[in-house]
Amino acid sequence: MTVRRRVQRLNLVENDSVGADDEEDLPVVVVMRAGAEPAQVAEVVEAIRGFGFVAHVSEGMERTVVGVVGSAGGRDEVMQALLALEAVERVVPVGVPYKLASRTYHGGRTQVRLGPDCVFGEGFTVVAGPCSVEDEDQIVRTALAVRDAGAKALRGGAFKPRTSPYSFQGLQEAGLRMLGAAREASGLPVVTELLDPRHLEAVEPYADMFQIGARNMHNFELLKEVGRSRKPVLLKRGMSATVEEWLMAAEYILSEGNARVVLCERGIRTFEPGTRFTLDLSAVALAQQLTHLPVIVDPSQAAGRAALVAPLARAACALGADGLIVEVHPDPPHARSDAQQQLRFDQFGELMQDVTRIAAIAQHEPR
Ligand code: PEP
Ligand code: MN
Repeated sequence: MTVRRRVQRLNLVENDSVGADDEEDLPVVVVMRAGAEPAQVAEVVEAIRGFGFVAHVSEGMERTVVGVVGSAGGRDEVMQALLALEAVERVVPVGVPYKLASRTYHGGRTQVRLGPDCVFGEGFTVVAGPCSVEDEDQIVRTALAVRDAGAKALRGGAFKPRTSPYSFQGLQEAGLRMLGAAREASGLPVVTELLDPRHLEAVEPYADMFQIGARNMHNFELLKEVGRSRKPVLLKRGMSATVEEWLMAAEYILSEGNARVVLCERGIRTFEPGTRFTLDLSAVALAQQLTHLPVIVDPSQAAGRAALVAPLARAACALGADGLIVEVHPDPPHARSDAQQQLRFDQFGELMQDVTRIAAIAQHEPR
């Protein structure tokens, strides 16, 4: 299916309003080496035609460039084949490879709705809850507390991606049932991590939004699976992924027909050992310019320390992020995962007061 048809199928654009149509889709410019012979240029043109594209030759004083246009598909393959030709110096793609996620192809900003009171991309939307679901009392109490403080959705992991196989792996199916009880008690929609396509059937009834964790951002089969589901997806940025790779991961989900994707920056690996990860707020601002999808921030995984969570949350809000996902626990020192970074209820209440005040100013900035 062509990009244009996928865009239309997702209803991201009106029928004929796509900026570039397929004829001009994914253009590439081939820069020949200085002094390339006419026969070598002809070889490039032939290779381009062989892939089903159209070649436009432009001869300059010193060198020749060849434009590659057309809707044949397989831009990467044609680029690699052209680079292998001796007289070719560079092959430069024009435009972005994530057409469905790109803001250029979409009139406005997308809103992702989890329920009547929880919309990402409208105001500042906060998701909160423990790192892991530990028992029913813990998750139900937390759900009620974060709801009363202003959170619009509940987080809690039942399947946990842990660095060590000996660490607590989550309560799994039992944890899902507890999330169901917390949803029932609080009325909050539930955001929970899907680790593996094999868990989809078990997780789906309890998740109002699938969380795809940082460690799974490159798990393309999982991305395709949630793309085929009809549940919204919270897509964390991989800890060493570029913004373009992150948007391409979103593209995997969108291209399967699921348009309800929210991006989440959660910190990247840098040389700094003082924080668990470095919260890349530049990437949030950049992503908001590049994509129409909402972009939220997870200050908890980035900070790795409770005392840093509120300052990072305030910065994210001031920057104009679309929301937060924050770890909150009734008794952080006794949490079974990420104890050091979870907020107590009173700390979360203060954070909510701060971000509410900041959002009143920041969210009025036109974007
Ligand atoms: C989490 O939210 O608890 C988590 C494991 O997040 P990430 O995938 O960002 O590390
Ligand atoms: Mn965690």
